[in-house]
Formats: sequence, C-alpha cells, structure tokens
Amino acid sequence: MKILQANAIEILDRITDGFFSLDENWRFTYINDEASYLLFRNRDDLIGKNVWEEFPEAVNLPFYKQYHKALAEQTPVIFDAYFPPLDTWFDVRAYPSSSGLSICFKDITKQKKTLKQHEQHYKSLFEQNPDAVYSFDLNGNYLSVNSKTETLFGYTEEELLQLSFVPLVHEDDLVKVKQYYRNAANGITQNYEARALHKDGHIVYVNVTNVPIIVDGDIVGVYGIAKDITMEKQTEERLLRSEKLSAVGQLSASIAHEIRNPLTSLKGFLQLMKTSSIDNLQDYLHIMLEEINRIETITGELLLLAKPQVHQFHFEDIKEMVGNVVILLHSQALINKVDIDVSSDELPLVNCVGAQIKQVFINLIKNAIESMPNGGKIRINLQNDCKEGVCIQVVDHGCGIPEELLPKIGLPFYTTKDKGTGLGMMTTLKIIETHGGTVDILSEAGKGTTINIYIPINPLAVKNIDEA
Ligand code: ADP
Ligand code: MG
Repeated sequence: MKILQANAIEILDRITDGFFSLDENWRFTYINDEASYLLFRNRDDLIGKNVWEEFPEAVNLPFYKQYHKALAEQTPVIFDAYFPPLDTWFDVRAYPSSSGLSICFKDITKQKKTLKQHEQHYKSLFEQNPDAVYSFDLNGNYLSVNSKTETLFGYTEEELLQLSFVPLVHEDDLVKVKQYYRNAANGITQNYEARALHKDGHIVYVNVTNVPIIVDGDIVGVYGIAKDITMEKQTEERLLRSEKLSAVGQLSASIAHEIRNPLTSLKGFLQLMKTSSIDNLQDYLHIMLEEINRIETITGELLLLAKPQVHQFHFEDIKEMVGNVVILLHSQALINKVDIDVSSDELPLVNCVGAQIKQVFINLIKNAIESMPNGGKIRINLQNDCKEGVCIQVVDHGCGIPEELLPKIGLPFYTTKDKGTGLGMMTTLKIIETHGGTVDILSEAGKGTTINIYIPINPLAVKNIDEA
C-alpha cells in the first residue's frame, strides 16, 4: 500500500472535494474527510477494502467502466454519474498512476436538478406553445418541431425533420423569407408576415419570428415561432373591401353629377352642330374630346376602385395618381364648396400597389372635404424626399381632431360622423404600413388637420438593406 506523505495528506484532508485513492486491486488506500462524509462511510471501515465490494451498486454504473478505462489506458477520465443508493449526482475525475487510481469527486445534485428544471421549463415553452415553434440548422433544415407545427402545416414531425423550410413557403414570398432567414442566421432577430403552404396546398398566413440560436457565443441555428394569422388576414381583407365598396357607393352619386355635366355640354354641342353650321368646328371638337376624356378617366377610376385587385407592386407616377383622384372627387368637392390645390416637386416613380395608394388619397381627401362643412381649401403637397421616398401632405382647415381623440383615429369603426364607416383611416394606415411608409397626423380642434405620409420609393429595396 502506498504511504502518502504527511503534508500531502494534510492538504487532501482539507480540500473541499471528496478524494480517495485505490491500489491496483481496487482497495482503498486513502479517503479524505469530505469523501467519507459524501459517501456516508467511516474512513477506517473502508481502508484496505475493495471498492466494488463496498459499493456493489456502482458495478453496473458508469463508475466501474470509467475507472477500468482510466487504469487500463492510463488516462484521466472525467464524467458525471448518478448514484441511486445515495440519490446523488457526482462529478468525478479519476487520475491513474502505476500503482492505482486517485479519485476526486463532488456532489452536483443541486446543479443537476436546477438544470433539469430549466430544461423542463424550456421544454414546456416549446411543447405547450399555442404557436408553431421549431428550430433549423444553418442551412434551414428542420431540427425540431413542436406538435402545433405539425397541425399548422399538415406535415408529421418525421416528414418535417427531412425538410428545409423552402417547400413550406409560398413561392411569391420565398425570396423575402430566405432573406429574413439569412438575417437571423447572421444574428439579427426578424419578425415578418408571410404566406406558408399547408401540405394539402392551401395558404396559411403566418406571423413569424426568427431568432438566432447562440451556443457558447456561436450561432448554430435559428429558432422559428409562427403564429397563425389567417383569420385576422381574412377579416382585414373583408374590412378593406367593405371600405372600398362603401367609398365607391358614396362616390357614385356625386360621380353621376360629374358625368352629367360633360354629357350635357356634349349634347349641347351636338345639337348646335346639327342645327347650324359652325365656323370654329375644330375648337368645339377639341373641347368635346376633352370632355369625353374626362368621362373616360372618371369611369375608369371608379371601375378600378370597385374591381377586386391583385395586389402587385409596380413603379407608378404618384403625381398622376393624385391628379386622377382629384378629378374623381372634383364634383364632391364642388358640392361642398371645397377647392383642391395640388403642388408637386419633380417626383421619382414609386414602387407601390397603385389602386391601394389611390384609395389612400381618396380616404384622406374625403375626410378633408367632410371636415369643412362650410367649404374651404384643401392643399395637397407632394415632395421629393432625397431620392429615398416621397412625402404626401394633405392639409385642411376644417374641424380638426381634439387631442384626446387622436389615438382613436385608425381604430376600426371609429367614426364621429352620422354616415361614417370608421374604416377609412384604418385602411390608410394599413396600406401605408404594407408599403413600408409612415403616417403622421397633426391636428388642432377648430383649426384643421395636416396628414403627412411618407412612402419609400422602393419598399422591397429598403428591406434588403438590413442584409447582413
Ligand atoms: P369616417 O370618415 O368614415 O368617419 P375615417 O376612418 O376616415 O372614418 O375617419 C375616422 C375619424 O377620424 C372621422 O370620423 C373623424 O372624426 C376623424 N378624422 C379623420 N380625418 C379627419 C380630418 N381631416 N379632419 C377632422 N377629423 C378627421
Ligand atoms: Mg373617412
């Protein structure tokens, strides 16, 4: 038996880890105080005894294999193991020497239990989550999915673990979704809406958050949380449509007027031509053609507004769009003794959904007209914002909005008018948001209202800027 030096023994007795040494026949040669305390055994009872006879339960546990390995291969081993008779987790290090093993160990039951609890907490967050929660590797392949992911997209867990996200994304959204994914894989958390494809082919609208998974400072994958917003989307679309149709309905009466005026003059000219010969025929024809063009524009705009739209982005001329909307609303303005004045910078073309932006102009101009029951002037200023975007300002001198009511503007169905729908501002905010722009409302009760809208020239390009 190896005799330890007296001063070494003193040190070993005082260390706070358990420590014992075994000879080549697995007999205890030394045990420190902490070890005898942790093992609930008297040190004198153990010295000279075989460890596997004293702790027979350890034979079928990692201790046996690890100690044999250390001794046979003459290499240190480090491992965690649970020892059921003492209901204790140990962190063990065994160091071999030619004459046996030195073993250092400590009780890590508490740490293990908290770790396990943490794991269970996170597991519940994952498994019990009402949203689809899943993780990807850095190539976008599924690593884990909760059960809601299966029901939301219609694939089983086994199927998903064979797939990347690509087949689950609507093809029109794939470019942007890939970009968001790359951003998340580069460490920037992303939140966006997209269309997912259910296994049976139907579209599921989702609001997705992508979060980088960081382990020891390295990004090893991406978490996804997808909330099903199909219902909200459908309701929203229905609301947008109803607002549009009510705008069309309200407009049609005044538009009948708008068309009747040129028709009356056309009829007058024709009667004149029929009954007498006219000298300056060309001039009249010119006026008649202008009147016909005007009717064409108005009916065209009205049809465009009423027709269900494919929401596609195109580069459009904002100034021309405002011009056409003003023509459309001209008669309503006239009836209300309102003048509409447009001033504009040179503007770049803007990538937008034309019908939607026109709808915004109609909503704002109608509100401005309605705010001035005794007539007045509406100014529309179009400004070029440093090649990045355009600013659209609609100014009226109407009734204004009391400060305490400002937060309500844009809530669905919030209206102060007898025949209002309370959907115009909601639609406006929603449309500008999808164009990546902003809406600012400045208003003073009794003085008037200024609405400032900013739209980026190319909302899709702006999103790509945060490309890492
Ligand atoms: P509606 O016009 O049908 O009432 P909107 O959503 O267009 O619905 O507007 C909501 C409310 O916001 C209006 O009822 C009105 O009280 C207020 N509002 C909007 N624009 C103006 C404005 N230019 N001047 C004064 N109040 C306004
Ligand atoms: Mg309105």
